[in-house]
Amino acid sequence: MNLFNIITKRTTEVATKITREAKLKMEINENKAKIKELYEILGKKIYENHIRENKISTDEIIQEDCLSLDKLSKEIENARKELLKLNNKKMCRKCFAEIETEDNFCPRCGEKQTQEKTVFEKAEEKLQQSEILPQNKKEAEIVKEKLEQKNNN
Ligand SMILES: [Zn+2]
Repeated sequence: MNLFNIITKRTTEVATKITREAKLKMEINENKAKIKELYEILGKKIYENHIRENKISTDEIIQEDCLSLDKLSKEIENARKELLKLNNKKMCRKCFAEIETEDNFCPRCGEKQTQEKTVFEKAEEKLQQSEILPQNKKEAEIVKEKLEQKNNN
């Protein structure tokens, strides 16, 4: 690969990263707005139930909206995680501070961070735990190799 190609590739990578980041940030903001809207709807429903003559149980009123809120919160969490990953950062398991991916301990609260295992590491662990018969061993090795190649790409 010549220098021009390397630069082009790098520029494309940076552009892709910026686009993805913008998209994730937009998604987070949209979901936050949806959550705010749902809170209002929920409040209104509860008040309307309060002034009703035949009150229904609150659980019944809020259940569906709460499930939607759960889903939106989860989506925000996933988008945040991906944003951090794009910038080689992660979140502390304990205090939720933004820390470097390679940090083994949180610089803020000192909590030990367990590294998320890669597909390859998980596969290798499984291989080590299992009792593979000699005739299957070669096949297992091939799968392991392929996973490793995939992991490095
Ligand atoms: Zn922490």
